[in-house]
Amino acid sequence: MLQFTVQSDLDKCAAGETMDCHKKQLFPEISDDHRLLQECPLLLPQDRGRTCYDGFITIKERDFRIRVEIPLDRQLKNARIYCDWILQQLVQDYQKLIKQRLQQSDNLTDFLIEFKRILNCSVRTNEELSSPPPPSYYSQLIRDIVDLGWDKISFVDEELRNINLRLHDACGREHVFALKINPQYPKEPPECRADLPVPFHLTWPQKGSLESVLAQASAAMDALTAFWDEMDEIDKSTWVLEPERPTRGDTIRRLALGNNASLHMEVDPRHPRMFPECRLLGPEPVVTPLKNKLNAKMYEWEPQLSILQNLKSILGIEFPSPTSHSKSDFSLECGICYMYRLDSSLPDQVCDDPRCGQPYHQACLYEWFRSLPSCHQSFNVVFGECPYCNKPISVKMKP
Ligand SMILES: [Zn+2]
Ligand SMILES: [Zn+2]
Repeated sequence: MLQFTVQSDLDKCAAGETMDCHKKQLFPEISDDHRLLQECPLLLPQDRGRTCYDGFITIKERDFRIRVEIPLDRQLKNARIYCDWILQQLVQDYQKLIKQRLQQSDNLTDFLIEFKRILNCSVRTNEELSSPPPPSYYSQLIRDIVDLGWDKISFVDEELRNINLRLHDACGREHVFALKINPQYPKEPPECRADLPVPFHLTWPQKGSLESVLAQASAAMDALTAFWDEMDEIDKSTWVLEPERPTRGDTIRRLALGNNASLHMEVDPRHPRMFPECRLLGPEPVVTPLKNKLNAKMYEWEPQLSILQNLKSILGIEFPSPTSHSKSDFSLECGICYMYRLDSSLPDQVCDDPRCGQPYHQACLYEWFRSLPSCHQSFNVVFGECPYCNKPISVKMKP
C-alpha cells in the first residue's frame, strides 16, 4: 500500500471570494460530496464524518482500487492514500507531484481531479513504452546488425529490443555491452550497460547506429586495458580475499598477506599504475612494520612497474599465492559466528596477539563484549578479552 502524508499549509479559501467558495464554506461536505460523486462515482464515503473514502478511481475506462483516509483535523495535507499495486506502479514516478497537489488542493475533489490528470498522463507514457516500435525500426536495426557483423552480437532477444555486443580488448579479454534499444532508434540512442570500473557515456551523433556504439565501446576498453592488466596480474598471483569473484568493474581487492593480515587496496582505473589507496588490516604486531614501510617508502613507487611489483619491493614481502598456499591457510572466518561474510561486513577486527590473530566481525565482537560484565567502555570503544586467547582486545561501537 502506498501512502502519502504531506506537511504544509492548506485551506486558503477566503470567505466571499466567489459564490462557489461561499457555498462550500456553508455546506462544505454536501457541495463537495456532489462534485466528488460526479468525478469519482465509485469512490464512496465510509463514515458520517467523511474521514474515509473507499472504492475505485476510473482512468481510461479502467478502475483502480483506492482508499483515502482524512485525519480528524480534516487537513488534506495529512491525508493518506492507499493504492492497489497497478496504481502504485503508475504513480511511482509522480510521487513528488502528487504530494504537491495534495498540499495545494482546497478539498478532496480538487485533489482527485488533479490526481486523475496525473494518472492519465502516466497511463499514456506507459502505453507508449509498451507499444511495439514501427516497422522501420526493425528494418533499420537488421541493416545495422548486418553492417556490424553478426560475430559482434552475442545475444539478441525475440523482440529485437535487447542486444548484447561482444568485444575483445587488446589482450583478448571478452567484454559485453548490453544494449536496450529505444523504440525511437535510430533517432534516440540505446541504453548501454557494461561491466566497467568507470561510467560509460554514449554520445549519440546525428546518424547514430550500432557502429557508433561499437566505436565508443572499443575506445572505452582501450582506455582501460592497462587497468585490467594490473588487476589480472594481482588476481593470478595473489590470494584475493575480497571480492570473492572479482568482476571487470571492481576496483577493490583485499589480498591475503599471511598471519591473519591483509592488504585492502583501491586502484584508480584511469591511472592504474599510480600508488593505490592502501589499508592494512590485521594484528598490530604484523601490520605495524608493514604500515611503517609503506609510509616511509611511498615515494619510491615506480609508475613504470606494475602495482604488484611495487608493493612487493616496498613491503619487502612475497604475497601468498595460489601456487604457494591453499585458501585454508588463511584463517578467515569470524571466531564468534564462524562465517566469513556477515551482511556485507568481513571479519576485520583481529586479535593483536601474533600467536592467536583470530579475526572477528566488528558487530560480533561488540555483541560478545556487551554480554560480559567484565568489559568496560570508554567513549565509543569497548575493551575486553579475546574470546580465544584472553589477551586484551578492543572494539569500536558501530557508528
Ligand atoms: Zn562474526
Ligand atoms: Zn586472541
